[in-house]
Amino acid sequence: MLGIDVRTDLLINGAWTPTTDRLSVLDPATGEVLAQVGDASIADGIEAVAAASAAFQTWGGTPARVRAEILRRAFEIMSAEVETCARLISLENGKAWRDAVGEATYAAEFFRWFSEEASRVEGGFRYAPGGDKTIITDYRPMGVAYMITPWNFPAAMATRKLAPALAAGCTAVLKPAAETPLTALWIGQVLERAGVPAGVVNIVTTSASGEVSEAILRDPRVATLSFTGSTFVGKLLLSQTAQRVLPSSMELGGNAPFVVFEGADVDAAIDGAMIAKMRNGGAACTAANRFYVHESVANEFSTKLETAFAKLRVGRGLDASHDLGAMVSEAERNKITALLESAREEGFEANPLAEIPATGAFIAPYVVRDVRHGSTLTSNEIFGPVAPIVSFDTEDEGVRMANDCEYGLISYVYAKDAGKGISLARRMESGMVAINRGLASDPAAPFGGMKESGLGREGGFAGIHEFLETQYFAVDV
Ligand code: NAP
Repeated sequence: MLGIDVRTDLLINGAWTPTTDRLSVLDPATGEVLAQVGDASIADGIEAVAAASAAFQTWGGTPARVRAEILRRAFEIMSAEVETCARLISLENGKAWRDAVGEATYAAEFFRWFSEEASRVEGGFRYAPGGDKTIITDYRPMGVAYMITPWNFPAAMATRKLAPALAAGCTAVLKPAAETPLTALWIGQVLERAGVPAGVVNIVTTSASGEVSEAILRDPRVATLSFTGSTFVGKLLLSQTAQRVLPSSMELGGNAPFVVFEGADVDAAIDGAMIAKMRNGGAACTAANRFYVHESVANEFSTKLETAFAKLRVGRGLDASHDLGAMVSEAERNKITALLESAREEGFEANPLAEIPATGAFIAPYVVRDVRHGSTLTSNEIFGPVAPIVSFDTEDEGVRMANDCEYGLISYVYAKDAGKGISLARRMESGMVAINRGLASDPAAPFGGMKESGLGREGGFAGIHEFLETQYFAVDV
């Protein structure tokens, strides 16, 4: 079915470990079973923690350059096999081929960036102002990192955590999403081939995420949690990590505003909107979710966006001629259709703008015009190819509506020039702002949110510090 050499058992202490129970992975475009992967129990999860803890004794003290070179090899292997990775992503997640290749390439880049960062961690030295001591600031790896990743970027969310953790000298237990475990298992194989020692990276796939994670987080050998997923689950996990005062990095939900201010280039905004909204079929935490357009161009923008959406071809992701693939599951597709139904009940017109295949978890793209700020489509993370458009009058009104949200991951700002864009970006309550462009993510940039979109940053110079403990030495002088 797969035609790809991917292991399907758990990776624990360098051994591919079978389980009696198995977990089916489906192709959302066809509903067919792609593979059966291991279904880890609590005991398997704890065994993975034990392996990671034992491996930390050596890995934590391995010279940074050795760790860096292993990560560099992982980058080289993954880059050479981008199409294999993309095929797995598209098969289990459903996304369009172009998006899958883009994700696989982006995911590999985290190995390159953090291979470069591994040997660049700087400590600090200063004389105390009182003259009585020297202050030395040191960083050391935290230990065993537990990582939980979502289904929407099965490769990139795994490498965005594994690469900095390994660069820092931490060991890992990774639990991928139940819908998309194959890509993570394949990345485990890449790391093995790159020379990662046994026990440094362990991967547990499970249908019992809640129970297995709770037991892992109670284990005193676990030093930190790195989670990417919904704000709902993030809050639940924070209540668990609070019991052990465990450092917790949280990359959570988003509800990104895309604001077209007076004087912006409308055609450039349409190009940006197609990327910000449609990358990954709209199933991205960074996806533009709410469009606020100055009233002088709201009609023009809406019509042009409809025209662009109507050109999209929807179909199986593996066929490179398709622009939009399947949603990850029927359940995810149904959540989006339910939001559209609520919007219709609120009086807004929502019509599909493209044909979709008769079977599979597909959804057409939609532009919903003249939406009211505060209605269903602007208050919920849609996670699909639906663009609600709200018009506004003054600049202050545009900024106010954009910020009137419990999330604060990313905002998109289109303004007449970069200077105006930066001054508006400073007013946005989000961890990231894309100015006159539709894409912000970059392994070299600090990715993360304000408000209920999360805690901490991944990537950039900050990413490695999520896995390092600060220690201060007071030295008598
Ligand atoms: P989710 O339901 O929160 O699931 C994410 C991960 O958490 C999955 O591995 C899931 O496992 C696991 N999980 C679910 N319940 C759990 C529990 N009780 N204890 C421990 N783990 C549990 O989110 P999703 O639907 O997969 O992903 C979409 C969400 O992720 C969106 O809100 C999106 O904005 C967010 N996201 C954020 C970022 C970011 O960087 N800020 C990036 C990507 C996605 P199972 O698969 O077994 O349920």
